[in-house]
Amino acid sequence: MKTLLKQYFGFDEFRPLQAEIVDNVMAGQDSFVLMSTGGGKSLCYQLPALKFSGLTLVISPLIALMKDQVDALKACGVRAEFINSSLTAEQIDEVCERAKNGEVKILYLAPERLALQSFKDFLKTLTISLIAVDEAHCISEWGHDFRPDYRNLGQLKKLLPGVPIIALTATATTKVREDIINHLHLQRAKIFTSSFNRENLSISVVEKKQAFAKLVNLLDKHKNESVIIYCFSRKETEELVGNLKLNDFSARAYHAGLDANERKLAQELFIKDKVNIMVATIAFGMGIDKPDVRLVVHYTFPKTLEGYYQEIGRAGRDGLPSQCVLFYTYADTRKHGMRF
Ligand code: ADP
Ligand code: MG
Repeated sequence: MKTLLKQYFGFDEFRPLQAEIVDNVMAGQDSFVLMSTGGGKSLCYQLPALKFSGLTLVISPLIALMKDQVDALKACGVRAEFINSSLTAEQIDEVCERAKNGEVKILYLAPERLALQSFKDFLKTLTISLIAVDEAHCISEWGHDFRPDYRNLGQLKKLLPGVPIIALTATATTKVREDIINHLHLQRAKIFTSSFNRENLSISVVEKKQAFAKLVNLLDKHKNESVIIYCFSRKETEELVGNLKLNDFSARAYHAGLDANERKLAQELFIKDKVNIMVATIAFGMGIDKPDVRLVVHYTFPKTLEGYYQEIGRAGRDGLPSQCVLFYTYADTRKHGMRF
């Protein structure tokens, strides 16, 4: 496994728990993985996938990221494909044909595919060695990101009996954890929990007075590095981007008011380091995934502690030192409709 780790991904060592999880998966057992953001969950199913003779299915809600993930795997020499609503019927047929011929090792799927009887019938014709359910908390109504389509995954154990399942998430309260285990029928799964202490993140809170000057000061310390700034509203993101540009920073807004193409462009520019600073609304950060984000700023404080942990989770995914700064002012409590 270590040889494969080096050969395909270029890493010398496993991160904590990865080796144990890979062993459990290879033994054909179900696994439940609770690991912090950036901990390296993907490898826990990607590495076994290379070794298994059959196909590995990966269920993920992040449709916007599937293509990037698959392209990254292809660049490492892994035969990966994806099926989601962004493909035409012909393209989907093509991928299915290749999967049927054993030419695909890892197939990423959007969960709604499993609502289609024809697709389920198709899956039954394949040799499937492993099912990975990424962002598994999406199955629970108690979580922060419930996706009704994830409930389709409850059928997997019956549909593909005997195929080991690995469920992975970075956020699971006891309730959410029970929900995942019940819905996916993982009562016999081995549970792996990693530390949630992100040792490479330094976290601080500053008073939101002369905020812009403080922000500029911070950004100067992170020149040419990737930065995410969370704001409360679409209007605030646009205003802040305007002011940053006036100060010669390379910044771009990212919020739900942009259409899909604009969002995709913003994301691409950020990922390819053509834009350094993403100014995003708190409600809309899900699509941003970049290993070397060095600074995450909350220009407005977040609504919940759990949300905050998720958002700063986007800093330092590569394990290198990164900074998280929260700007606090009592006045912002009103934005969230909070009363003290
Ligand atoms: P998660 O899904 O748990 O948030 P990822 O699987 O996206 O995390 O991995 C986060 C980062 O860590 C990626 O850039 C990945 O390439 C890197 N990574 C994963 N495993 C290792 C390892 N064993 N050695 C070095 N880097 C690793
Ligand atoms: Mg992940």
